Amino acid sequence: MIRLLPLAACAAFALPLPAAAQPAPDPAKLRDAALASDTLAWDIVEGLTTEVGQRLAATEAEARARAWAVRKVTALGFHNVHVETYQMPVWLRGEERAEVLGPSAQKLVLAALGNSGSTGARPLEADVAYFATFADLQASPAGSLAGKIAFIDHAMTATQDGSQYGAFGAARRQGPSIAASKGAAAVLIRSIGTDHGRNPHTGVTNWAKDQVPIPAAALSVPDAEQLVRLVRRGPVRIRLTLTPQFAGQGESGNVVADLPGTDPAAGMILVGGHLDSWDLATGAIDDGAGIAITTAAAKRVHDAGPHRRTIRVVWFGAEEPGGFGGNAFAKAHAGDRYVLAGESDEGADHVWRFHTSLPPANKPLEDRIAQALAPIGITWTTGPGDFGTDVGPTIRGGVPGVGLQQSMLRYFDYHHTPDDTLDKIDPIQLRQNVAAWTAVIAMVALAPEEIGAPLSVNKAK
Ligand SMILES: [Zn+2]
Repeated sequence: MIRLLPLAACAAFALPLPAAAQPAPDPAKLRDAALASDTLAWDIVEGLTTEVGQRLAATEAEARARAWAVRKVTALGFHNVHVETYQMPVWLRGEERAEVLGPSAQKLVLAALGNSGSTGARPLEADVAYFATFADLQASPAGSLAGKIAFIDHAMTATQDGSQYGAFGAARRQGPSIAASKGAAAVLIRSIGTDHGRNPHTGVTNWAKDQVPIPAAALSVPDAEQLVRLVRRGPVRIRLTLTPQFAGQGESGNVVADLPGTDPAAGMILVGGHLDSWDLATGAIDDGAGIAITTAAAKRVHDAGPHRRTIRVVWFGAEEPGGFGGNAFAKAHAGDRYVLAGESDEGADHVWRFHTSLPPANKPLEDRIAQALAPIGITWTTGPGDFGTDVGPTIRGGVPGVGLQQSMLRYFDYHHTPDDTLDKIDPIQLRQNVAAWTAVIAMVALAPEEIGAPLSVNKAK
């Protein structure tokens, strides 16, 4: 049986029980209880996506989401709940229309990329220059795209590790800036997605310094394939209207909440996900699920009895437009001692693999984590690992990372589309995520040995 403390045990007015009066949590039992019966993660992601909806960075909606988050984690008994704000540029979507002109006249379905420039109210009409790959665009001569709409195609497919997002995502992240530098008037990309629904996948694009933003949008995959067929038949001319705007500086913020441990000198474990979403949907898998999973897991560990290390949960703001929350947090907390940092931001499907960058001296802890994760189907890997956008800056500052990699076979069907909604979350796989994070958090929060190394020594790559 798991002994659950009543909520009041965490409230400020309740006297803490002496540590010796409570048994220490058993990570394996906590894991199994989460797998069998967790409802809190679903409750959080259902509540956030229903009551707040979309949460575009640095907008009124994201501010409402922070207020919602503060109320939620306070009600759950977290301590030291507060918002850490920062300023950042605001980008807002406008109208978006595209149509093929001439004998095959037809509309195309598209969505502006984050940071897209505007055509202005009057549509832009231009001929299409087709590039089968991002590399083909890179190889095109300087000035060769003058006045044209560059159309960047690619061939991303679904894999369990989602690794193709790195390679094919370049078409979205850097493609528009490169096309603009060669004279393009606008850019269309095939959505960085693996579905064949007519939903475009938005996402941020990054302009090189001094590059004036041009209109840039993603076509749904079927619309991109249609445009490829048209281009093969001969020259294509498109009329395009995109009216997004840069709306100056705005406020975003990170919501920070702690579950205190018994030994403040032992360092903290940092977990979380991101609170903001793109504006096309309610951000259920990206990343309502991630904050729900890590928050539910942290609370399970805390409710089970005294734990040595403080568990800090952060609901990061403004991840989507470029990791503003993660950067602000690392800067504000450079003096904190975290022994391990990790985030959940690959959807809500099951965890299948984990890796850490714990120092060699902590191999016994890593072995214990591996043993705790093996019974729920999670294997261990050593390869070089990315631990995520939000904890990345903290990890680069010298904190060991932990990554719990989720199956991404379905993720890029919905990622950044109007279809990132609650119904895409499988409650059973969501519970397996909570079970995995519960085991990791418990192992680290309870570990009797010292973890990590001084910040100056333990520089992660
Ligand atoms: Zn995300």
